[in-house]
Amino acid sequence: MRTIDLPTQGKIPVLGLGTWRLGEDPALRREEVTAVRAAIAMGYRLIDTAEMYGEGGAEQVVGQAIAEALRAGEVRREALFVVSKVYPHNASRRGTPAACARSLARLGLDRIDLYLLHWRGQFPLAETAEAMRSLVDKGLIAHWGVSNLDTADMEELAAPDCAADQVYYSLGERGPEFSLLPWLRGRGMPLMAYSPIDQGALAEDAGLQNMARRRGVTAAQLALAWVLAQPGVVAIPKAVSETHQRDNLAAAALSLSADELAEIDRLHPPPRRKKPLSMI
Ligand code: NDP
Repeated sequence: MRTIDLPTQGKIPVLGLGTWRLGEDPALRREEVTAVRAAIAMGYRLIDTAEMYGEGGAEQVVGQAIAEALRAGEVRREALFVVSKVYPHNASRRGTPAACARSLARLGLDRIDLYLLHWRGQFPLAETAEAMRSLVDKGLIAHWGVSNLDTADMEELAAPDCAADQVYYSLGERGPEFSLLPWLRGRGMPLMAYSPIDQGALAEDAGLQNMARRRGVTAAQLALAWVLAQPGVVAIPKAVSETHQRDNLAAAALSLSADELAEIDRLHPPPRRKKPLSMI
């Protein structure tokens, strides 16, 4: 799996597994753990979760899947890159370490590889950044970053040690290309694209389906390959279905021709002016 350098001396795999909507229904727990474990077994190394998802349930699913994969010798802990996020209402000087401790317990890990502020809330960004730095100093997180922060927020944060910004970026939502993505690239900070298949909608996109048929792939794979073709961008599609997981892994190895990229631009044009960052 290709990796991208972080500005904080580390590397992040370009493709990961999203876990929003997991851990919400105890009746699905076994099936979800099996799905995350299958993803690890087929080569996923980056897993994205959050204390918000299933109110801790998704972290428990991820933790159980990792524990089983480690016990079975299917992966080494150092090979995994686990991302979690703190709720804005917990992101204070004291609340951040407390939330991190709860996430670590649910994940069954002694370190989160990348810990993000989920979105901007009532606490000053500088206070959250200080709390994050103290977690790095204690070795409880390897890197820290943010999510749903637009260019002006990033300017205000002014933190060269912020490792990444996770935002909504897909063919249906190309807004970040106007200023945020160039801003991040200029500082060597990866953009982590969430909802890269527009929550499944791009799989039904007629124009992409036409193109995909000619290429012998699926529309969702094209949508994902396009996101991954953007320099400095990581994508974290969520897939419980093993077929989707495999398709997405294969999409990371697809390269798009100049003609294909131009056709995609005609179907889903790049932004011509700044618009506020969209959030799901
Ligand atoms: P995605 O764009 O990843 O779409 C997920 C949906 O697409 C699921 O229904 C999945 O089905 C389906 N799917 C996945 N792969 C394929 C495929 N190859 N072909 C057809 N359908 C496919 O949406 P998400 O909103 O889940 O975003 C991904 C992740 O990003 C989240 O899970 C979460 O980790 C993160 N996120 C972060 C946010 C933030 O504020 N920081 C906000 C939103 C998301 P199935 O599961 O059945 O396989």
